[in-house]
Amino acid sequence: MKSGFSTACSLLVWALCAASPAQALPPIKELADPSLPDIAAVEYAPGKGPVIVYNPFLCKQAGRDLCEFYRYHEYGHIALRHYERSDISAQKKEEEADRWAATHAPRQIVLAAWRFFSAGGGATPMHGDGPTRAARLVDARDQVAFANRQPEDRVGRETTPLSFSGLAL
Ligand SMILES: [Zn+2]
Repeated sequence: MKSGFSTACSLLVWALCAASPAQALPPIKELADPSLPDIAAVEYAPGKGPVIVYNPFLCKQAGRDLCEFYRYHEYGHIALRHYERSDISAQKKEEEADRWAATHAPRQIVLAAWRFFSAGGGATPMHGDGPTRAARLVDARDQVAFANRQPEDRVGRETTPLSFSGLAL
């Protein structure tokens, strides 16, 4: 159950970060690394800011929209300051980064990730299995759409997890 406080918070974050992750945060360096075993990751060097590294080959293989989702996911880790937090588990951080990406990325990018995860992609012990990640994206988008509607609109709300077309943006 969502409290009024968390709804207000997500609305505030939404208003501040709506268009692109780059606008919401100080400039983040992005580096291509063809040897990276994953599409993208955040690296932290002591005394320096976080850097997003990505594998351009895996990115191309994944396709533009899915790769962009991964980029948003990494921006989520940075925006949520996961690199300096030890109060939550690594799994929780991945869950939060997925949700952050789902609420900040344009819809077609979230949809590309949803399709990929729904088909079983993106599964790791840390990130969760594909369907769990897919459900996380819909849930996060739903909260944003829901918060932007008037209370009377909520009565007939579709509860099927495939309700992307009903979401705001
Ligand atoms: Zn992550």
